[in-house]
Amino acid sequence: MPQIQFMAFLDPRKKKCCCCDRTMMLTRKINFLDEEGRLVGDLELCSGCADTLAEVLNVGKEVVEKEWVFEQ
Ligand SMILES: [Zn+2]
Repeated sequence: MPQIQFMAFLDPRKKKCCCCDRTMMLTRKINFLDEEGRLVGDLELCSGCADTLAEVLNVGKEVVEKEWVFEQ
């Protein structure tokens, strides 16, 4: 099963965030691994983007039970 690893930088650096494109202190690196643990890609993110992504991924693991019906 593919995995996502959230890792904190020992020394945060000021660079362009891979997600929001702002030049910020990047605090976390996210590694995307395939089924065999090989690195597929990575993102270096500011803390705001990393927190948001972590929250979205946690929410994404839950089963969606609510259905929305849009009628006109
Ligand atoms: Zn960002």
